[in-house]
Amino acid sequence: MTIRQVLAEGRKKLREAQIPDWELDAWYLLEYVTGYTRNDYFLHQEDETADDRKQQYEELIQKRSGHIPLQHLTGSQEFMGISFLVNEHVLIPRQDTEILVEESMKYIREGMHILDMCTGSGCILLSILKLKPGVAGWGADLSERALAVAEKNRDRLNVQAEFLKSDLFSGVTGRYDCILSNPPYIPSGIVDTLMEEVRGHEPRQALDGGKDGLYYYRKIIEQSPEYLKPGGMLFFEIGYDQSETVREQMKDFYTGVTVVKDLAGLDRVVYGRLRS
Ligand code: GLN
Repeated sequence: MTIRQVLAEGRKKLREAQIPDWELDAWYLLEYVTGYTRNDYFLHQEDETADDRKQQYEELIQKRSGHIPLQHLTGSQEFMGISFLVNEHVLIPRQDTEILVEESMKYIREGMHILDMCTGSGCILLSILKLKPGVAGWGADLSERALAVAEKNRDRLNVQAEFLKSDLFSGVTGRYDCILSNPPYIPSGIVDTLMEEVRGHEPRQALDGGKDGLYYYRKIIEQSPEYLKPGGMLFFEIGYDQSETVREQMKDFYTGVTVVKDLAGLDRVVYGRLRS
């Protein structure tokens, strides 16, 4: 079979399995197996496919048909233009979360100490450190298996960051200029209604925000003042319908509380400055 035929088979299988992005995913898996760019593909599409590559591709298509996320098959996801390693122990970095990074970077300066609470793959912290030299970073997570992924990402990106196992702030010491967090925020009852890729393959611990989805916001808002320097800032990613409640809760401890929308026009980030 030619490479073009192998790709056509992959597309057909994923479409039959009703994989939402079947067309793109069939391509990404081919790219992963062959290392071909679009351009290479057009030059080589009529070449005969090597047996081992064809077999590897078919196995991946089979897995993707079973709703295993594409990123678990390729082992990585791009975030802020940087490639991050992922596996089933961390949330796959989402494009929406780039808003949190972009907003916070408007305030983060050289010499600052920042803390990423519920760091997961480390994508928030590490992309800031990569893009803003001279910032010192710490990342906390309850999951040791997530921290192992974050540490690998740190080493690959060649930045300095310290990761600590901590149930929220229990293991955190010192005070920071900025605390960032994309905590689990999906109401418990909703998690099981999410798409199979998410509910069956991403860590529930990274998704489930308790009965109303707001458990971690309440805890972090109440405890964070102890860990911020005077005038320090707190940045959250939030669910599209959570801005009202999170903003109200933040106002007890924070001033200038601001909501930022994502590219789809939905509320996505809330931040504020610690009251003096
Ligand atoms: N902070 C990580 C991320 O944004 C993990 C978030 C989470 O586990 N809820 O990808």
